[in-house]
Amino acid sequence: MVKHCCSLMDNFLNDPRIPMYYSPRMREYYIPLKNHSAAQCIFYCPWCGIKLPKDLRDEYFDILENEYDIEDFDNDEEIPNEFKTNAWWKKRKL
Ligand SMILES: [Zn+2]
Repeated sequence: MVKHCCSLMDNFLNDPRIPMYYSPRMREYYIPLKNHSAAQCIFYCPWCGIKLPKDLRDEYFDILENEYDIEDFDNDEEIPNEFKTNAWWKKRKL
């Protein structure tokens, strides 16, 4: 079963030699920069060319701030468990 847009994407995300990642928490596909200071998000699949689903970075911070009153996003203990996986956006059908 293909988890992402195509089987090549699935394979490459699982291949530790390929520096490309998917964050279920943010629904974000990205390539880390060489010094790991930042990452470059990708918006289209490099293999099948499809437009990838929109990342949920803004929604993530908005919901935590507005519904949970969380301001310190670096303190992982304050972040509800559902926000550490894709559970929060699946549940909200985003
Ligand atoms: Zn693809």
